[in-house]
Amino acid sequence: LEQWLARLHPADREPVQLALEQAWAGRELSVSLRLPGTDAPRWLHWAGQLQGRQLRGFILDVSALKAQELQTSAARARLENLIASSPAVIYVQRCSDGALHSEFFSASLQPMLGWAADSEQARQPGLAVHPDDHALWLQRTSDLLREGQARCRVRLRDSRGGYHWILDEARLLRDDLGQPLEVVGLWLDVSEATEAAERVRQSEERYRVLVEDSPAMICRYRPDLILMFGNRPLADYLQCTPEQLVGMDLGQWLSPAQRAAFVERLRQLTPEQPLSSSEICLQLPGREHAWWIWADRGLFDEHGQLLEIQAVGRDNTEVRRSQQQLLQGAKMATLGELATGLLHEINQPLNVIRMATVNTIKRVENGLAETDYLLEKLRRIEAQTDRVARLVDHMRVFGRRSAVEREWFPAWAAVTAAVALLDEGLRGKGVSVQVSVPDEQPQVLGHQDQLEQVLINLLVNARDALLGLGRRDAAISLHQSLEPGSVVLWVQDNGGGIDPQLHERIFEPFFTTKPAGVGTGLGLSVSHGIVSAMGGSLQVSNQGDGACFCMRLPCHSIS
Ligand code: ADP
Repeated sequence: LEQWLARLHPADREPVQLALEQAWAGRELSVSLRLPGTDAPRWLHWAGQLQGRQLRGFILDVSALKAQELQTSAARARLENLIASSPAVIYVQRCSDGALHSEFFSASLQPMLGWAADSEQARQPGLAVHPDDHALWLQRTSDLLREGQARCRVRLRDSRGGYHWILDEARLLRDDLGQPLEVVGLWLDVSEATEAAERVRQSEERYRVLVEDSPAMICRYRPDLILMFGNRPLADYLQCTPEQLVGMDLGQWLSPAQRAAFVERLRQLTPEQPLSSSEICLQLPGREHAWWIWADRGLFDEHGQLLEIQAVGRDNTEVRRSQQQLLQGAKMATLGELATGLLHEINQPLNVIRMATVNTIKRVENGLAETDYLLEKLRRIEAQTDRVARLVDHMRVFGRRSAVEREWFPAWAAVTAAVALLDEGLRGKGVSVQVSVPDEQPQVLGHQDQLEQVLINLLVNARDALLGLGRRDAAISLHQSLEPGSVVLWVQDNGGGIDPQLHERIFEPFFTTKPAGVGTGLGLSVSHGIVSAMGGSLQVSNQGDGACFCMRLPCHSIS
């Protein structure tokens, strides 16, 4: 026995000895053992039974069988390992009578759903399906049985009551007769991906609702102004549907000048400075003009190329209208003031005309009317009629509403026109007007009649101050100076100046020191507004023994 044991693989000696001892005690002998060989050991199976005082049995060489078994179990271990370590749950369901019964779940069932493999849920997963997904689950079973495979995404309740989004992928295996045998499938927990997708969908939905319900006009368009999207308020303004907006040219409602300015503004957008806003004027179908406050944000690609623009707009037409009305009101007030001076202006030529007519009639009656004399009188009458006509013309122009869009004009032209309107009247009241005509007359952007109104207000205020003082050398001087990028107009008087404490307040609306019924207190505030709208500034200071108003305007070119 000792020799026999010594030939065995060392690891098998003890088990064999134990098995032998138990066999002597009456147990059946059945033990596998190895005989070390040159390369692989030989596997033997030793079986036997105690009979009387003899142990009888046989030894079988099972090397081939054992090698196969080892291979199979290694493969099986590998597979089991794979199944157990897979993040997916692998399962098998048995089919019987058209129903499916769980038979196997891989180990990841516990970490995924907290279910034990023999739990109630594992036996009948349908019970753990979210009520909203029941229909999907039933559909899966019927698809499986009919089509042989199914794929669905349902929510399963875990052991703590929380739901997981599970992607179920299953196949049906049939027996030789084509009868359904079992279902092999896998579950993948896709909660994170599903919830992330759902969050994105919800946030997209929120933004969509925000954009749709916003009273503001919201759109996306390409750098060539072709609309890619527009919400309902924008469509309503443009009298079409949001679907029709796509592909429309946003520039079609802009004048060529507005369009050029718009495109230029977009050209200045950069990835660092992607925002820009301005007030744009549009010619809309069925409407006179619309003013929109328009804010753009450029979207760029990685090379800094402008891809598209997102814009939000607000209708500012009503505000514009009331501003224009206020301006018009102030203009009419100025006009009213001018009317008194105008009476004098018109009266004078009328007097001249009357005198000339009376004298001519006398001469004709006395038979003394020579042709030269008559011609001279008629020319005088013509000249005076012209003068009146010019004045009336100008008043008419001044009373008109300003053009909608701003234009370039020489700033000095407004000075000339305002002075022409008031010069005579001022001289009549003993106020001399000194004008230094500049050589260069740069252009500014705005409305000439509005700038004229500013100058008229300044001249009328200077006149009032001077008349209050009653000095003999009362004078107003106007001149222009140039600064880089700006033209500056100066209106200076010697009417005593303005209390420095009031320098801020005089620009407030309705601030006046004039008696009730005389001053409106609007002149300077409206003037300030007009100059600001032109991108300029209006300031006051005391110079010498009077007030000096200085108007700085950005200019375009020297004409
Ligand atoms: P109004 O002329 O109707 O009073 P304005 O806004 O034009 O309204 O002027 C506001 C006030 O500013 C005037 O009431 C006056 O006190 C003061 N003011 C304006 N210009 C002058 C000036 N050149 N000299 C003195 N005071 C002036």
